Amino acid sequence: MADLVIREGKLVIPGTGIVEADIAVEGGKIIALGSGLTGREEIIASGKYVLPGIIDPHIHLGIFGDLAMEMETETRSGLMGGVTTVGCFMGGPNPYHPGFSDTIALTEGKINTDIFFHLGIMTPEQRQQIPRLIEEYGITSFKLYMAGIPGLIPDVDDGFLLRTFETAAALGDGVTICVHAENPQINAASRSEVQGRLADGTLADWTDTQPNYSEEEAVRRASYFAGLAGNRLYFVHISTGESIRALAAIKPANPKIFAETTSPYLSITKFSDKGLLAKMVPPFREEASVEALWQGVKDGVVDTIGTDNVSQTLAVKQADKGMWGAMPGYPALGTHLPVVLHHGVNKRGVSLLKVAELMSKKPAEIFGLYPQKGVIAPGSDADLVVVDLDKTVRVDHKNLGSYCDFSLYDGEELKGWPVMTIKSGRLVVKDGQVVGQVPGRYLRRSAS
Ligand SMILES: [Zn+2]
Repeated sequence: MADLVIREGKLVIPGTGIVEADIAVEGGKIIALGSGLTGREEIIASGKYVLPGIIDPHIHLGIFGDLAMEMETETRSGLMGGVTTVGCFMGGPNPYHPGFSDTIALTEGKINTDIFFHLGIMTPEQRQQIPRLIEEYGITSFKLYMAGIPGLIPDVDDGFLLRTFETAAALGDGVTICVHAENPQINAASRSEVQGRLADGTLADWTDTQPNYSEEEAVRRASYFAGLAGNRLYFVHISTGESIRALAAIKPANPKIFAETTSPYLSITKFSDKGLLAKMVPPFREEASVEALWQGVKDGVVDTIGTDNVSQTLAVKQADKGMWGAMPGYPALGTHLPVVLHHGVNKRGVSLLKVAELMSKKPAEIFGLYPQKGVIAPGSDADLVVVDLDKTVRVDHKNLGSYCDFSLYDGEELKGWPVMTIKSGRLVVKDGQVVGQVPGRYLRRSAS
């Protein structure tokens, strides 16, 4: 007899369809789908939709808060929002080997979701270590910043970009290079123009420091180099309609190019009344870009949806310091799935199969976790989220499980929420309350 059976759910399985079936779980894995299954424990899904656990492929932890603390609190917020696995970007100027085992060790006993890492590649020494990082740590995805974050992260030039693409291509299709695509010279020129005319400004003025064409040009250039090198290229946080149109033309000719956008970019414009609380890099765009991103979600130009979560408090954010002084970033894990259910499924008719595909299956496939993750099938991890498309909740950051004292969505009503999160076969969140705990795991990946 199974440990657990989830009954009366409508299973949302990308590639298969929506299937009414019970799920039997044993030892944290799905062992059977069918009807009339029995288990020692039962969860009744009451005709609600059951999705594979959400994989947020793009978060940051430990940038402004203590890393060990954020591993605990922010992954708890993720679970409360239906996220059961996170892909966390880490980076710095020093070589990662041998020290990165300490970071991996830190996850044990701390994290509530499962976790995998992507490492920033900023120096030739780090690039040389890539085969070692794959072998020692099971890390198969790496990140390049064509435009860095002024004062925090350096830019890489085209020579470095192309050589790193070649390094990755030589290691095969199990290795993915993630790219933050913007043109740093265009950004620098735009920034100094805005600085010349504005002592302070609005969220919309901030957008002028990183114009839409800066992203589009970098997307085209990186795609060109990836075509030469033959590597797998994953664009993080695509924010503009211009990039979506460029990728719609580029991707059919190169199946090794992938594009991510974020739930905030799909729901917030530069004219939002959130003001500088929503200061971000890349910045929020105009309505037309938001609609183009949704179109990209619908027709497959967008492969994945992440958050680009950068947890911080209001004291760190310092939105009152104005356009130049406020910090970029925001917490977004607890609202990730509700934002997509509200703005995508309920407002724009995006199908739940699409949601499960872009928020679970494809991140798992692209980052080497499929079919352990990303699908509801025998043999897969029993990470599941039960959603109620009619549940409406007014967002209050206090209920999101994060240590952060704000959410971009505070005060907004979102329709469509997870009502149960099942992690490794255990019910861990029910109706917005943590009801159980199961230790998250570090996910080693292989390049073959
Ligand atoms: Zn990021």
